[in-house]
Amino acid sequence: MSPLLEVRDLHVRYEARGGTIRAVDGVGFSLARGEVLGVVGESGCGKSTLGRAILRLVEPAAGTIVFDGEDITRLDRRGMVARRRDMQVVFQDPFGALNPRHRVGEIVGEPLVVHRVGDRASRAARVAELLELVGLPPDAARRHPHEFSGGQRQRIAIARALALEPRLLVADEPVSALDVSIQSQVINLLSDLRARLGLSMVFISHDLSVVRHVSDRIAVMYLGRIVEIGAAAEVFDAPAHPYARALLSAVPHVDPSRRRDRILLQGEMPDPAHPPGGCAFRTRCPAAEPRCAASAPALAARRIAGAPPREAACHLLEAA
Ligand code: SF4
Repeated sequence: MSPLLEVRDLHVRYEARGGTIRAVDGVGFSLARGEVLGVVGESGCGKSTLGRAILRLVEPAAGTIVFDGEDITRLDRRGMVARRRDMQVVFQDPFGALNPRHRVGEIVGEPLVVHRVGDRASRAARVAELLELVGLPPDAARRHPHEFSGGQRQRIAIARALALEPRLLVADEPVSALDVSIQSQVINLLSDLRARLGLSMVFISHDLSVVRHVSDRIAVMYLGRIVEIGAAAEVFDAPAHPYARALLSAVPHVDPSRRRDRILLQGEMPDPAHPPGGCAFRTRCPAAEPRCAASAPALAARRIAGAPPREAACHLLEAA
């Protein structure tokens, strides 16, 4: 079956005071129907910009996004508004995303009104169904967002995102603003909804332990590029790229008998307006060699000791 989403050589650029920032610099991946891809990396790596670009909430400078067989980068504004029925987003800040003056019923039902779905009675019934789906009481519809906790507000945002029965949900740091105790409830809710509704998800987070719980595959990003992508269990068990290894060394292994040695990254993330030539990670890479400055390694299938080949971008990893 063809993938639900195919992103090919996507570029997003911003003009900043220091120069042009290549926030997304040639990213490509596909997402199968019903699959969850976790996108991880430090703040500033371009993961949130990638999420927004997939939905065309920011305009790509180049590249192609194919959703369900259609090149959506060619759609005009009206065409894209219609397409967004199938592609929804949940952001980090549940309060900022909800209009405080509106009742929850209006907030959750608004996409139905915008897309002229049903009449008043059927929309009210759908709102009640959605509130139940995300575990909120029916009387929530009559209340305002400030009457709810952070976790409940994120449930309201999720109910709204699901109103039009999208096939793709981009979840951008959906639990980062929540207390740890509430995070797992929202993660479990998203996993449950994915299983029940067959949703595909791009799940963006800086928190690897959160991503591990929901993802089938993981993409690790550094300075606008994917440096490693593969099955979540394989990447978590044996990360191949030096950056992925360093990131994952801070996360406890699922098997407590297999402790990881902590790898501390040298220095800060480089200025994104002036990334290093060659491999962009070379200024912080504990394994860097002279050839790393000469050319940028391609993201390609590489041999991994004791594991199936996996896509990674590092000169030290042999091509598969
Ligand atoms: Fe490190 Fe060189 Fe591999 Fe880049 S190409 S990750 S600098 S070893």
